[in-house]
Amino acid sequence: ARQERLRSTSGPGSTADGHQVALYANIGGAKDLLGDVEGVGLFRTELLYLDRTDAPSFDDQVAAYTEVFAALPGRKVVVRTLDAGADKPLPFLSQSDEPNPALGVRGLRISWRRPDVLETQLKAIAAAAKAASAEVWVMAPMVATPQEAATFVAACRAAGLPTAGAMVEIPAAALRAGALLAEVDFLSIGTNDLSQYTFASDRQVGELAELLDPWQPALLELIAMCASAGKAAGKPVGVCGEAAADPALAVVLTGLGITSLSMAARSIPAVREALAARTLEECQRLAHAALTAETAEAARAAAR
Ligand code: PEP
Ligand code: MG
Repeated sequence: ARQERLRSTSGPGSTADGHQVALYANIGGAKDLLGDVEGVGLFRTELLYLDRTDAPSFDDQVAAYTEVFAALPGRKVVVRTLDAGADKPLPFLSQSDEPNPALGVRGLRISWRRPDVLETQLKAIAAAAKAASAEVWVMAPMVATPQEAATFVAACRAAGLPTAGAMVEIPAAALRAGALLAEVDFLSIGTNDLSQYTFASDRQVGELAELLDPWQPALLELIAMCASAGKAAGKPVGVCGEAAADPALAVVLTGLGITSLSMAARSIPAVREALAARTLEECQRLAHAALTAETAEAARAAAR
């Protein structure tokens, strides 16, 4: 029965001594909800609209979000507002003439010139949440400052969405995690973009893989800062980038104080198994070893 439970995608993870870590799925729509999951830690809503040349209507959006929420009665679903631009351009939103799209008007920044798009999306999420019984949280991608976070939270509250958070994908946000947490209900670290911006390395350039390695101690240090700030504020700080799917790294993240890990559903069983094999104190010791290593390679070896 224990083996069966460890192989499952559903239910929270737990260290050998019972410290719980939520294990969520990353999805791009209802089609990705394969198997039973504890919840969704990252619903990438922009993936629903990659091919569209016109903005999805309020009704289109309500239907798409309701399909997801209805499949997860009573479960948590963290919905990310449209992260358009750079590696995920949306024809109806993204500007094609930017010299550096990854550093341009993308993610939450698009709401500066198109507040209507964010407003419509938040209203659609709220309407869908009302129609289904999932526990819906919302978060914004590409938040750089506490002021941006505060503006986003106000828009969420105005739309009737009580729980609002920020993704930490920009080093400035990690450096000011405490100030960010004063504005939001939770943080979710997107390690894919946080690596990209910390190491000035385009995530789409394979030649830069070494710099983009999620075991890079500088990245771990930014994650540790967020986790400490979360602990001090008494608010959840999760990881929803690819780093969360690496079982050995999941142990380190847990040791750093991360409260939830969100990944492709198929990765959940291996992460669950890795956590179950360590006590919280062991996770903390391995986290310290990785954090104080000099290279990504050394960090990986130290955590073994
Ligand atoms: C990330 O940047 O780590 C993340 C989870 O978002 P995306 O991969 O969709 O940019
Ligand atoms: Mg991202």
